Amino acid sequence: MSKKIKYSLCIHGGAGTILKKNLSDEKKHLITNDLKASLSAGEKVLKEGGTALDAVCAAVVCLENSEHFNAGKGAVYSHGGKHLLEASVMEGATLKAGALANAMRIKNPVLFAKTLLENDDVVFVSGDAVDLLAEKSGCNMVDNSYFDTTFRKEQWEMAQKLSKETMFLDHSNLKMGTVGAVALDTNGNLAAATSTGGMTNKLDGRIGDTAMIGAGTYANNKTCAVSCTGVGEFFIRATVASLVSHLMEYGGLSLEEATQKAIHEHQAKLGGDGGLIAIDSNGNISMPYNSNGMYRGFVNESLKEQNVFIWDDVEV
Ligand code: ASP
Repeated sequence: MSKKIKYSLCIHGGAGTILKKNLSDEKKHLITNDLKASLSAGEKVLKEGGTALDAVCAAVVCLENSEHFNAGKGAVYSHGGKHLLEASVMEGATLKAGALANAMRIKNPVLFAKTLLENDDVVFVSGDAVDLLAEKSGCNMVDNSYFDTTFRKEQWEMAQKLSKETMFLDHSNLKMGTVGAVALDTNGNLAAATSTGGMTNKLDGRIGDTAMIGAGTYANNKTCAVSCTGVGEFFIRATVASLVSHLMEYGGLSLEEATQKAIHEHQAKLGGDGGLIAIDSNGNISMPYNSNGMYRGFVNESLKEQNVFIWDDVEV
């Protein structure tokens, strides 16, 4: 068994078609800087003895505030031209969770997911109630136009032009960029968080895996914490996040064996495209994907530097 690490944090900024030829040096630089800032924000919490839950939220807030990712500012547009946001969090010590879908005005959806987790009455809220409840609970609220960016607007216009059937999703035209984080804190607790705008030109009302505990997010101190990214419908049908945990708990698999099976055997065999980040209770991490790339990075108490990657072969 590998040596136990005191704290460890892993993040992603989405998996999908990230072609080297389409990513300018300037954009790559901006994105990797944001990933590093997110790792720093989460690591600060862990270094100071904070909880894994606070660390994953700090890391995700940082990415939600960046316009380079499909979460918070910079979220994609739905078919109806709105930003409909999703987020979820889960804590491994208590198995408590909070999740929301179709929020339109919460600046940092992951923080309201954490509020739901802490209140412990309701796990999952969707629709108009989300914004009303978030406002009541003191969340920072913004107009839906706060999430606008030219880049996502152009993607949406292109997707609208290309889509022949407007009612249903056409996966070939959809762009991703969801964000997430998983962490182990110095008390040995695990947590996971995920946040997204969903898929470009998605059907208004559609809910993806990011909002669903067990599909896009899962954490259990006995096994691991997981955050997923990819075409949500496949992650929901393969219940990818909880599958990793169950393969470890009931199948006796290691973290790496379980994540490889969940992504490459279950999700990919259904026709899905995406990846996940996961961490176990020893602080080991795993970051498999079956798409063209995945923005991701990790740091732990024994590393001098943050490690950030986009493709298999390139550390950036
Ligand atoms: N999983 C997200 C969704 O289907 C998209 C993504 O990961 O980029 O809504």
